[in-house]
Amino acid sequence: KMKQIAIYGKGGIGKSTTCSNLSASLSLLGYKVLQIGCDPKADSTKNLIGGKSKPSVLDYIRESSVKVTKEGILTKGFSNTYCIEAGGPEPGVGCAGRGIITAIEMINELNIFEELDIDVVIYDVLGDVVCGGFAVPLRMGFAKEVYLVTSGEAMALYAANNISKAIQRFGQRSDVRLGGIICNQRNAYMEKEIVTGLAKNLSSQVIGWIPRDNIVQECELKNATVVEGSPESDMAKVYSQLASNIMSNENFVIPTPMDDMQFDFMIKQPMKMQIQ
Ligand code: ATP
Ligand code: MG
Repeated sequence: KMKQIAIYGKGGIGKSTTCSNLSASLSLLGYKVLQIGCDPKADSTKNLIGGKSKPSVLDYIRESSVKVTKEGILTKGFSNTYCIEAGGPEPGVGCAGRGIITAIEMINELNIFEELDIDVVIYDVLGDVVCGGFAVPLRMGFAKEVYLVTSGEAMALYAANNISKAIQRFGQRSDVRLGGIICNQRNAYMEKEIVTGLAKNLSSQVIGWIPRDNIVQECELKNATVVEGSPESDMAKVYSQLASNIMSNENFVIPTPMDDMQFDFMIKQPMKMQIQ
C-alpha cells in the first residue's frame, strides 16, 4: 500500500524544491512521508528540516565507529515528514551512485519504512548523469512511479527524454512506470506548447504546472518550503494540487522516448506552427 515515487530531472531544474514542497503538501493532506535525497550534495531535504542537517548515510558510515542507527540518519521534518540524505563519495573519488545503494540497503536493514509506517516515499534523484547508480531506486525495484521535472528549455527536455530511455528499459522487465511530467516553468519560449509536446511524445501527461515565483527564494532564505513558509500563497496551493494529482494519478505508462530527429522536431514544432 506504500507508494514509492522517484523524481528525476536535469541538474538545477528544481527537483529538490519540488520534492520538498510535495512532501510538505502530502503531509498536510494526512500522509506520512519519507523523502530520500539521492544526490551527493545532500541538500535535498534542507528546507523540510529548517537547514539543520544530520550526516548523510555515507558520511555517517564513513565517520562513525558505532553501529548505524535509525536516529543517526533520520531527521524529522516539517509536519509529518521524515528525511534521509544518501550522500556521496568525496569529490573525485568513487561512484556518485554508490551513496544511493548504501542508503537504500541501510534503510532496509533498519526497517525504516515499516517502523515509521510510511505512506509515501519520495526519492529525489539527480538524473542528467548517464550513470547506472542513479537508476538504482528503479533498478532495485523500490520506486515504481517516476515523475520527470523539466522546463521548456532544451537541456532540461533533453535530460527528461534521456531518463525516459532508462524508464523504458526498466519498464519492459518490471513494473516501473512513468506517471507524468512536472513542468517547473522558466518562462521559456513557447514553454507550455513544448512541454505538452514532450508529454505527448513520451505517451504521458503533464501532471503539474509550477510557475516561477520568487516566493520560493524568499522561503528558502528561511530554510523553509513555500508550503511551510508561506502557506496562504498561490504557490502553496499549486504544490498542494500537485500532491493531490499524484495521489489520484492513474495514468502510468512505459514511456516512448524520442530519437534525436524526433527530439529536434519536437522542440521546433511549435515554432513551425507559428510561422505557418
Ligand atoms: P540539483 O540538481 O542541483 O539538486 P535541483 O534540481 O534539486 O538541483 P533545486 O535546488 O530544487 O534544483 O532548485 C534550484 C534553484 O531554483 C533553487 O535554489 C530554487 O530557489 C529555484 N527554484 C526552483 N523552483 C522554483 C520555482 N518554481 N520558482 C522560483 N524558483 C525556483
Ligand atoms: Mg537537488
